Amino acid sequence: MAQLLEMKNITKKFGDVTALNDISLSLDSGEILSLCGENGSGKSTLMKVLCGIYPHGDYSGEIFFGGEPLIAKGIKDTEEKGISIIHQELALVKNMSVLENMFLGNEIIKGGLTDDNEMYLRCKTILKQVQLEVDPNTKVGELGLGQQQLVEIAKALNKQVRLLILDEPTASLTEKETAILLNLIEDLKAHNISCIYISHKLNEVKAISDKICVIRDGEHIGTRDAAGMSEDDIITMMVGREITSLYPHE
Ligand code: ADP
Ligand code: MG
Repeated sequence: MAQLLEMKNITKKFGDVTALNDISLSLDSGEILSLCGENGSGKSTLMKVLCGIYPHGDYSGEIFFGGEPLIAKGIKDTEEKGISIIHQELALVKNMSVLENMFLGNEIIKGGLTDDNEMYLRCKTILKQVQLEVDPNTKVGELGLGQQQLVEIAKALNKQVRLLILDEPTASLTEKETAILLNLIEDLKAHNISCIYISHKLNEVKAISDKICVIRDGEHIGTRDAAGMSEDDIITMMVGREITSLYPHE
């Protein structure tokens, strides 16, 4: 498999606070990597560095994507290269339709006009791919949270995503919606799309990951093949010691 992403020696500070300290990780095309760590360990910050929310110069270290240096001024630059991030708090416009959200700022233009027919057909195709059976003209606000999550992914697919970053996507999803999402990630993998997955639900992490990367207090603790790791192994790496009881003071 070809290497898609390499982050080298990433350090990110907020004033005096070092949120990320010299973190390196790499990812191949079609690989699923889970990023694990306790709250405040630096997972979201690392992903914001990757997708340009914190622009080049706002952190130290280097990022290579598709073999080339990734030097982003903002999220638009990384989107253009095929990186999509989906946050827990979704970024859809609730009073616009699924179709409008999917093509927002990315309309198909033919002869100087938006090609509504083509957009409708393309929207339908992608909705089918993400198994979301709703009419493209449905307002996003009328959908459940899980369905909205799938619209976000549909939007990413519409932009020819090569790396999908999901930051705690299943926190507010039902079991059924979660199952659909996990299936979809595996389907994307089969199409050589990579994924960085952040979740506290270690059963999900175990189920879909090729590799698991653990960070603690902004430090890279280790990246290992998921196959050889139990949930207890992951927790031990996350907290830095073995958990013998959930109630240590008893
Ligand atoms: P996680 O996603 O793993 O829960 P974060 O990346 O959100 O962790 O946070 C890592 C650390 O950086 C925390 O100590 C957090 O308080 C700090 N941090 C995150 N964002 C900011 C910010 N915008 N300003 C100051 N400190 C921040
Ligand atoms: Mg976070």
